[in-house]
Amino acid sequence: MNNLLKLAEKLYKEHSLSVAEYEELISCRTDETAQYLQKKADELRKSVYGNKVFIRGLIEISNICKNNCYYCGIRGENANCQRYRLTPEEIIECCKSGYSLGFRTFVLQGGEDAYFTDEILCKLIKDIKKLFPDCAITLSLGERSRESYQNLYDAGADRYLLRHEAADNELYGKLHPENLLLKNRMECLKNLKEIGFQTGCGFMVGAPYQTAHHLAKDLKFIEEFQPDMCGIGPFVPHKDTVFKDEKAGSTELTLYLLSIIRLIKPNILLPATTALGTVDPTGREKGILSGANVVMPNLSPKDVRGKYELYNNKLSTGAESAAHIEELQNRMKKIGFSIVTERGDIKQ
Ligand code: SAH
Repeated sequence: MNNLLKLAEKLYKEHSLSVAEYEELISCRTDETAQYLQKKADELRKSVYGNKVFIRGLIEISNICKNNCYYCGIRGENANCQRYRLTPEEIIECCKSGYSLGFRTFVLQGGEDAYFTDEILCKLIKDIKKLFPDCAITLSLGERSRESYQNLYDAGADRYLLRHEAADNELYGKLHPENLLLKNRMECLKNLKEIGFQTGCGFMVGAPYQTAHHLAKDLKFIEEFQPDMCGIGPFVPHKDTVFKDEKAGSTELTLYLLSIIRLIKPNILLPATTALGTVDPTGREKGILSGANVVMPNLSPKDVRGKYELYNNKLSTGAESAAHIEELQNRMKKIGFSIVTERGDIKQ
């Protein structure tokens, strides 16, 4: 057995490697190793979750954002972005249609929009929970104070997604303006986990300036932090951002990393993301076959979908749309999986 396969086998058995070993696994990637990792990831995911794929209804509640992340299409300084914000009533309408389509998790994602105070969010969370006590609520609303996270948790929110974006300080600094600090991002993640949220981190694959060493540090962070969820997808350029001329991340590397993350934490909730579906028409299927077990179709009202443009050509139609859940189900069935009407919590 060659050295690289030995590393992959070690990861499968021990769920841990050094940063240098992760780096080697990434920078020396071969088809043979990719196939091995994929097979083991599939095996491990099946042993924990069978052939179930969990679905989340993604509601993009606002594209108003005070931040200026260099990669993101809804950055505050983008004057070409048509801003919108859903009202609590509109958000509840989305949940209602999602519920009847079989969704039992609602993900409320948005820019860092000051309108969504604790007071407004807590009332909204309680209202959703009252209408749908059998559903989980995931929030993905960026950095907030510990006190705020606690309030949202106490109101009934179950999960929180906050991608760490880059575990390396220097890379984090190249992707974000000076006022955004990795230290704060990490503090938020630690707070979320301590409060009791099922917590998700994650990063973009193929972001500008990102090297195999940076990715190795991301993997080590995941191994140490032990998140319940991890969102990764290829970086895709947006025309109104600093990174408009950079090239997109690759499908192959994203799939390879999905398999590695499944091996690091066999019970992790791992989405095949919209960005993966955007760079490759069968990206969702390939993601699932590489170890992912979650998909997050879009449940936002039709008229705002195009406006939540994190990157260009972001999919929101066909199987990406919650309304076409049947199409998604057919696509999953074709590869031997089945989407289920369940909350889909992490299995301990
Ligand atoms: N404001 C929230 C939600 C951000 S959008 C927060 O800060 O967590 C969700 C994710 O989309 C981001 O964390 C980022 O990793 C990803 N994203 C943003 N711009 C992107 C781009 N150009 N290509 C691919 N993914 C992108």
